[in-house]
Amino acid sequence: MPHASNIVHCDGPDSPHAFDIIPLRPRNGSLDARCPICHGHGQWNTEIDLVSFRCKRAICDHCYGAGWVETGDDPIGFPDIVTTPEGYPKWIVRYVVKSDVESSDPKSALLAVPKP
Ligand SMILES: [Zn+2]
Repeated sequence: MPHASNIVHCDGPDSPHAFDIIPLRPRNGSLDARCPICHGHGQWNTEIDLVSFRCKRAICDHCYGAGWVETGDDPIGFPDIVTTPEGYPKWIVRYVVKSDVESSDPKSALLAVPKP
């Protein structure tokens, strides 16, 4: 039996239902300001059913889903993997200073990929 649905498509974070049922991300302490693209949500709906609220989402590539960005000169933590002395992979947070990061897109330079 078909169920009622009212699916809307969102072109991006400026669309009317882009942030429906998406909570704001908690500030993790090291980052300064709400992301100007996703306004602190870290993601947005690309498609949402206004009846069932089933949705498809996109992760914000400006803040990598954090919802917050660094605006000052504090070190920025990036998840990374290192090999332990025993030879096992291990997750770490690698801290870099903002002047040591670069971005191919200057407008998204607040959180960028560390230089190799
Ligand atoms: Zn964002």
